[in-house]
Amino acid sequence: MSNLHSDCVFCKIIAGDIPSYPVFEDDVVLAFLDISQATPGHTLVIPKQHLQDIYAMSSEQAGAIFSRIPQIARAIRASDPQIKGMNIVNDNGVVAYQSVFHAHFHLIPRYQPTDDFN
Ligand code: ADP
Repeated sequence: MSNLHSDCVFCKIIAGDIPSYPVFEDDVVLAFLDISQATPGHTLVIPKQHLQDIYAMSSEQAGAIFSRIPQIARAIRASDPQIKGMNIVNDNGVVAYQSVFHAHFHLIPRYQPTDDFN
């Protein structure tokens, strides 16, 4: 399953060559805190396999990756009773604001009654 790219920052995180704060890992995905926290607990879920974006995924790959997200979302929610909601975001392409070209899903906790984050 390993096809890590030497010029990809997320492949370097998977390889352990760049430090990260992991919150979940198995054979299919790695989840770690985003270095730029949109809200506290902002987490990225990435496939262990280098896939550029959603278009590069087979149905089987997408299913395997997506199947991990509910349990990761539950774990993040359970970490802080102030978390009342969560945005799950996936950017594909420069015009959609993708800046790292290794597919990833943002899990962004939201805090009530209103949080100060956009
Ligand atoms: P955007 O930069 O517009 O959010 P993406 O959807 O491609 O674009 O998100 C890439 C995310 O990767 C960013 O939120 C960025 O903060 C995060 N990121 C980049 N480098 C690292 C790193 N070394 N460790 C953790 N997160 C990182």
